[in-house]
Amino acid sequence: MSVATALSIAGSDPSGGAGIQADLKAFSARGVYGMAALTALTAQNTTGVSGVHLVPPGFVAQQIAAILDDIRVDAIKIGMIAGAEIAEAVADAIAGFAGPVVLDPVMVAKGGHPLLPEDAVGSLRSRLLPRATLLTPNLPEAAALLGCDVADTRAEMERQAKALLGLGPEAVLLKGGHLGGGASPDLLASGNETIWLEGPRVPTANTHGTGCTLSSALAAELAKRRELPEAVATVKAWLTGAIAGADDLGVGHGHGPSHHFHALWPLAGDL
Ligand code: PLP
Repeated sequence: MSVATALSIAGSDPSGGAGIQADLKAFSARGVYGMAALTALTAQNTTGVSGVHLVPPGFVAQQIAAILDDIRVDAIKIGMIAGAEIAEAVADAIAGFAGPVVLDPVMVAKGGHPLLPEDAVGSLRSRLLPRATLLTPNLPEAAALLGCDVADTRAEMERQAKALLGLGPEAVLLKGGHLGGGASPDLLASGNETIWLEGPRVPTANTHGTGCTLSSALAAELAKRRELPEAVATVKAWLTGAIAGADDLGVGHGHGPSHHFHALWPLAGDL
C-alpha cells in the first residue's frame, strides 16, 4: 500500500504561513505525502517580506529531477516562480511529467512586495500556463496575465476566466476574494462547464498564505484522483474552515496564517 504524493515547486516563507511551508502543511492536512523543490528563499513574517533570494535555475531543475528520478509523484503544485529563467527551468524539468499540475501564478505578496518581476510574466504565460491542469489566479493576477483591468463584476470574471482558458490551461479557478462585499465567490471554468462556488467572506485579517494553501490542497485532492469539481468544492469548504480557525492560532503581529489543521487539532486536545 502507498499513499498519494504531491510535489510543491515554490518559494520558502520562514514564518510558516505561505510558500512551501504552507504547501507541506496543506498536503499533510489533506492526507498526502508532501515534497518540495525550492525556487526562492524569502525573509518574511506576518507583517511583510523584507528580502528575496533566488535559487539558481539549474539547481531548481536539479531538485525536481532528483525527485522525479526516484519517487512517484501524483500531482505537482507550482507557486512562486520568482524569475523568467526559473520559469523556463521548471517548464523543462517537468516536461516528462504526465500527471496533474496546479499552477498558482504568485505575483505580489499581500503587503505589496513583488514576488515575480514583470519581465517574468511572459515566461509564466508562455511556458507554464499551457502545462497547467488547473490555474488558480486571484483577480489582480488574472488581470496581469491578460493585460486588462481587474474584474469587478461576476460577468467580467466569467469573461476573464474564458480568456485565461485561451492561454492554455485545462481549467481555471478564478478566485473572487477581491470582489468585495459579504461573499467570496470563485469561478471554475473548463472546456465544457462553468461553475460558481459560493462561500462566505470570513471576517479576519489572518489570511496570509491562503492562495498557497488553496492551490496545494487542490493538488492533494488531484493526487488522490478526485474529479476537479469535487476537489474544488471540498477544498473551498476546507479552506473556509482554515480561515475561520485562523484567529485561534494567534501567530505574529500582522496578517497571520490560516489554520491548516483546524479539523485535526481539537481531537489532539482530547487525548
Ligand atoms: N511568500 C511566498 C514564498 C509565497 O509563495 C506567497 C504566495 O502567494 C506569499 C509569500 C504571499 O503570501 P500572502 O498570502 O501573504 O500574499
